[in-house]
Amino acid sequence: MKKTIFVLLIVAFVCGLVACGKAPEGTKTSEATMGAPGMSTIEAVKEKGVLVAGVKDSVVPFGYVDEKSGELVGFDVDLCRYIADELGVKLELQPVTSSNRIPMLTEGKVDLLAATMTHKIERDEVIDFSITYFMDGQRLLVPADSGIKGYEDLAGKKVGSVKGSTSEKNILMVQPAAEVISFEGYPEAFLALKQGKVVAATTDSVILVGLKGSDPDPAKWAIVGDFFSSEPYAIGVRENDSEWRDFINFTLMKMYKEGKWEENYNKWLGPDTKYYLPPTGWKMEIWP
Ligand code: GLU
Repeated sequence: MKKTIFVLLIVAFVCGLVACGKAPEGTKTSEATMGAPGMSTIEAVKEKGVLVAGVKDSVVPFGYVDEKSGELVGFDVDLCRYIADELGVKLELQPVTSSNRIPMLTEGKVDLLAATMTHKIERDEVIDFSITYFMDGQRLLVPADSGIKGYEDLAGKKVGSVKGSTSEKNILMVQPAAEVISFEGYPEAFLALKQGKVVAATTDSVILVGLKGSDPDPAKWAIVGDFFSSEPYAIGVRENDSEWRDFINFTLMKMYKEGKWEENYNKWLGPDTKYYLPPTGWKMEIWP
């Protein structure tokens, strides 16, 4: 009898747990974005009525705080807004850094990452990626009068980059004799350059264009050398959620076909901006 009551109690306890959808104490449930186990993020986002997007907050012009409005704006932010509009939900922006963005996604704190993030095979072991939505490569930012022409000139020199980025690794692949100092963010690497603590800052050319263009005296700085890496930007999503990934891929293609991607490019990187980046001829992969 005692045994029966005990079994019944256990069954009731387990059923209770399942009914509440609660994971054991100490487990990260991340209900805020992940929804119930097995539920696609697309369903969870629709149910919440909110898309939580992980974006940068100090990378001009992809994700940064607009001085006048105090709002997070940029190319990646507008991309997220387009996705949220397609879903008919509100957009909530969650700032992420190069080093915490993947854990922010895997821990369920964001529904996706649109954060100047290169699709690397190494990263694909932890998360999944959309198709490429932007193509760039790595270069150097130096004082215009430095005489530095490329990574060949950086042997034995200090170079600033960012923790958790591809940039801090790529530079050592082409110039193993450089000393890389990695900062939390790109503005800090640029500050170190201004203070003479490093002789160059290095990352994707579009980020360097943003740093140079937002400086009070852009002519003091030069972006130099050949591209020495390939940086295809893609949207990060959690592993094995093909419904969500499909939706994001189809939405990116729709945006591109409608000319909205080009509008976004011109808004943030066109000739009328401080961050002009002449188009390279790259085209998004559009499935028939
Ligand atoms: N695109 C590179 C990366 O994903 C550099 C920019 C960044 O740190 O976000 O690492």
